[in-house]
Amino acid sequence: MADKSVIVIGSGFAGLSAASFMAQAGWQVTVIEKNKTPGGRARQLKENGFTFDMGPSFYWMPDVFERYFDRFGKKTADYYSLRRLDPSYRIYWNDGYTDMPAAIEAVKKLFELIEPGSAAKLEKYLNGAAYKYEAGMNKLVYKPGRSITEFMDWSTIGGVFKLQVFSSIKDHIAKYFQHPTLRRIMEFPVLFLGALPEDTPALYSLMNYADIKGGTWYPEGGMYSVVAGMIKLAQELGVQFRFDEEVREIVIREKQAKTVTTNKSNYSADAVISGADYHFTETQLLPEAYRSYSPAYWDKRVMAPSCLLYYIGLNKKLKQPVHHSLFFDVSFEQHGNEIYK
Ligand SMILES: Cc1cc2nc3c(=O)[nH]c(=O)nc-3n(C[C@H](O)[C@H](O)[C@H](O)COP(=O)(O)OP(=O)(O)OC[C@H]3O[C@@H](n4cnc5c(N)ncnc54)[C@H](O)[C@@H]3O)c2cc1C
Repeated sequence: MADKSVIVIGSGFAGLSAASFMAQAGWQVTVIEKNKTPGGRARQLKENGFTFDMGPSFYWMPDVFERYFDRFGKKTADYYSLRRLDPSYRIYWNDGYTDMPAAIEAVKKLFELIEPGSAAKLEKYLNGAAYKYEAGMNKLVYKPGRSITEFMDWSTIGGVFKLQVFSSIKDHIAKYFQHPTLRRIMEFPVLFLGALPEDTPALYSLMNYADIKGGTWYPEGGMYSVVAGMIKLAQELGVQFRFDEEVREIVIREKQAKTVTTNKSNYSADAVISGADYHFTETQLLPEAYRSYSPAYWDKRVMAPSCLLYYIGLNKKLKQPVHHSLFFDVSFEQHGNEIYK
């Protein structure tokens, strides 16, 4: 029996990941989730015989998932099977559509057809993006973030300029490609980050690398298979789950988070980890005296926009649309400005 216990709030990817790592480290872990089912933004909706992934559909950066399961001596294949999609996705314009091929040579051919000379430029662009992906993941994302000193090695500091954190990705792309179609293909992935290309650092060309080189993958059974896999791993490690129970407060005693109050009960533990949104945890669950940021700080922040989703079930199979169809049939700029500005 583990002698230390932790409560994890939320069963999204973050909560599930934290829960498994804590269990692996020997803690007794209980995940408390307000919804009836796990997965958070990636949960599943079953209605009238239809099954929907409620949030994510682009499985990019398969190396990240592989690395995660590897930390537990496992492989993604132990929990779900993956298939690389070809085309990666389809973009509809107002006068037709473009299928983005999986193979790099086919992508180059496509670029060359749209803008002669652009295949060589794409290769150069992706070489820079590969550096950013490698450096961004290993020197920034995978660092635990406990102290600023983690980022103080000379190669990271010296690499900041190469990472292009000070110039926009819109300007960066414009240096390589002239044709509006190519510019849009290269710009759209950063919309996933919740901001416009002109407001996003060129560092994020790493997303083009993830897209074009890394590819779009399909976990058999849908994105929820990833959640199901992470739940299975957590259960194998002994993690306990309580669904349909909402945490209302993190109670602090002697400067330590030791208890959570839910709509059903109180739970004590040696530590509490919140996988709920940071802003929510800080402003709704933590007592005011223990918050890191003031209301004035939050007032100045621009949150990524929310979205309205329709889950539509049809009584027949459509032939035309493929998976991952993106509709850029109206002005990209107008759309972007109306959503993000
Ligand atoms: C529509 C949409 C499309 C997306 N598409 C993609 C994509 O294609 N590819 C991609 O990689 N990413 C995509 N994302 C982003 C991705 O889904 C999220 O980044 C990820 O799921 C967030 O995981 P999380 O664990 O951080 O948060 P969440 O999934 O939000 O998990 C937080 C959990 O905490 C629970 N919780 C909150 N408050 C409480 C409380 N008080 N008590 C108990 N439980 C609580 C919530 O119910 C939830 O289960 C998309 C997101 C959305 C919404």
